[in-house]
Amino acid sequence: EAPAKRVGFAIVGLGRLALEEILPAFGEAKKARPVALVSGSPDKARVVGEQYGIKPEALYDYASFDRIADNPEIEAVYIVLPNAMHREFVERAAKAGKHVLCEKPMATSSVDARAMTKACADAKVQLMIAYRCQYEPNNRAVQKLVRDGAMGAVKIVEATNTQVMGTGDQWRFRKELAGGGALPDIGLYCLNAARFLTGEEPTEVFARIRNPKDDPRYREVEETIAFTLVFPSGVIANCSSSYGAHENKDLRVHLEKGTIDLERAFAYEGQELKLSRRDGTAESIETKRLGQKNQFALELDHMAECLREGRRPRTPGEEGVQDHVIMEALYESTRSGAPVTL
Ligand code: NDP
Repeated sequence: EAPAKRVGFAIVGLGRLALEEILPAFGEAKKARPVALVSGSPDKARVVGEQYGIKPEALYDYASFDRIADNPEIEAVYIVLPNAMHREFVERAAKAGKHVLCEKPMATSSVDARAMTKACADAKVQLMIAYRCQYEPNNRAVQKLVRDGAMGAVKIVEATNTQVMGTGDQWRFRKELAGGGALPDIGLYCLNAARFLTGEEPTEVFARIRNPKDDPRYREVEETIAFTLVFPSGVIANCSSSYGAHENKDLRVHLEKGTIDLERAFAYEGQELKLSRRDGTAESIETKRLGQKNQFALELDHMAECLREGRRPRTPGEEGVQDHVIMEALYESTRSGAPVTL
């Protein structure tokens, strides 16, 4: 698309994700372009604005945010703030008549997530949650393999998302801003993948948390969580997430007639797909390398396409609400020590 025909986005919050992934991804997007920045730091906004050709009058701060209503170049707003701030800025964006793309986790509670969905519906603007893996070609290929049935029924999904966090103070360790620890931040990818792959909603969940003693980072939020989801068809998903274990972002699906491995399923890049199949006595192992495409660019283009065609995005607000409902059940299970029925 010619630049003027692309959907114009305002980026809200110039932190690590916005600066290192989202803004550069516009360079690979075909239907979206950045037209405004919102930041609490005017100096940073000016420098970043110059770098991306943003007009000086399209730089806002959190107090002047509502003036985006008067800027017709802004069609959509991309919320990249700490989790607890998502609700306020989604609601203000909807009030300004702008469509919204909101980072995951959608909010810090299902109550907030539902309110955000309602605010956007009432304002008749689209709301999409940035579940980037649902736009990533390898994850989509796994979904297709699972759903087409050629490998038989799924029995077990194993999903892991671990990484080692820095020791510095940051909002991710504060419950009020983050909503939780490893679960909403990275374990969410395991939960969302299990639902995305099977197309089912879990009916029973169980979870356990472990925190290192005497580590001030884990006074308010969890370091390590393991959880199980049971789906109506009988699929069991075993998920593990930690802020304290060496990086692993792998997904494995065990089916009747084979195994699907997606290495680095939840990483920004480097996915590797391996299919191990058994048909009678014949065994085959196939590795696939699908073209590496920038997930953030694919996600931005999907949102832009939906807006141009008046379609609902594939990952709307309801998708985020459901994950929050399940995460609340998981936390309930960690407190009671018992499985929770949904
Ligand atoms: P950062 O802490 O790096 O950036 C957050 C930005 O929000 C800050 O730089 C700041 O921008 C703004 N901000 C406003 N108020 C506050 C406050 N009280 N405390 C801290 N920051 C504030 O976070 P990330 O970029 O890592 O994460 C932002 C969002 O993106 C989160 O919801 C996170 O879950 C999500 N995320 C998603 C990923 C994905 O793969 N989809 C990966 C990483 C994060 P400014 O200085 O411009 O005001």
